[in-house]
Amino acid sequence: MIDLHCHSHFSDGLLSPVALFNKAADAQLQILALTDHDTVAGLALLTEAARHSKLKIINGIELSVRWKKNDVHIIGLNIDHEDAGLKGLIAQQTESRVLRAKQIADCLTPFGLENAYQKACEIAGHDRVGRPHFAQVLITEGLVRDAKTAFKRYLGRGKPAYVPTPWLSIDEAVEGIVHAGGQAVIAHPLKYSLTRSKLHELINAFIDAGGVGMEVVSGETTVTDVNEMAGLCMRYGLLASTGSDYHGDGISRIALGKQRQLPLNCTPIWHQWTI
Ligand code: MN
Ligand code: MN
Ligand code: MN
Repeated sequence: MIDLHCHSHFSDGLLSPVALFNKAADAQLQILALTDHDTVAGLALLTEAARHSKLKIINGIELSVRWKKNDVHIIGLNIDHEDAGLKGLIAQQTESRVLRAKQIADCLTPFGLENAYQKACEIAGHDRVGRPHFAQVLITEGLVRDAKTAFKRYLGRGKPAYVPTPWLSIDEAVEGIVHAGGQAVIAHPLKYSLTRSKLHELINAFIDAGGVGMEVVSGETTVTDVNEMAGLCMRYGLLASTGSDYHGDGISRIALGKQRQLPLNCTPIWHQWTI
């Protein structure tokens, strides 16, 4: 009953922090971490909503990093979201994100899509939009039928509207999280289509930077994948994390807190938390 990875409408999730709290309370979750992409804007609202409940809120973030031409996601858990260094990194990421969004919009114009950036911002309700918002615009404007096709034809790596982004380095992200008192975790390690040897390289770089955890369970991972990631955690002495990566009903197939259980042979990231 622990979910350490989900999104609110402050990034690309559908729900407000208050609505997320209500869902988590209905599902009788014990611990919930909100991990919006490159923002901590929803954390105070979620904490406030949960103040008189049994649900323990963990302050989190999901930072995009650029590692050897791959976009990798690093989760920070138990961060001090007022930390000045972290705020600086977030400001830097926001600048990169907005610039990237405008470039993506420019790339979509030749396909007959006008003002895609403004449209994405309208869907998001803010200007720090990401590719899922553009996928939504492409669907609404009738260019594709679903988000998967939007990535396959336009937004995915190597496609016409793919824009490589100067995200933080892995060292900057992990050090920023650690400096803010948090624990850094590799998000969904199997989502990057890395070869196994590259994945090992990523884990080594991450540990060298001060990272301590990896998601063993993420969203709808299979039992085989879960067991393999649990093995990797043990091999590298990493703590195991788990999360639904819930973005909202209709977007996410796994509901908040409904991801698989962590295998018993790994050490959960919360084993030393005082909660
Ligand atoms: Mn997302
Ligand atoms: Mn992610
Ligand atoms: Mn996520």
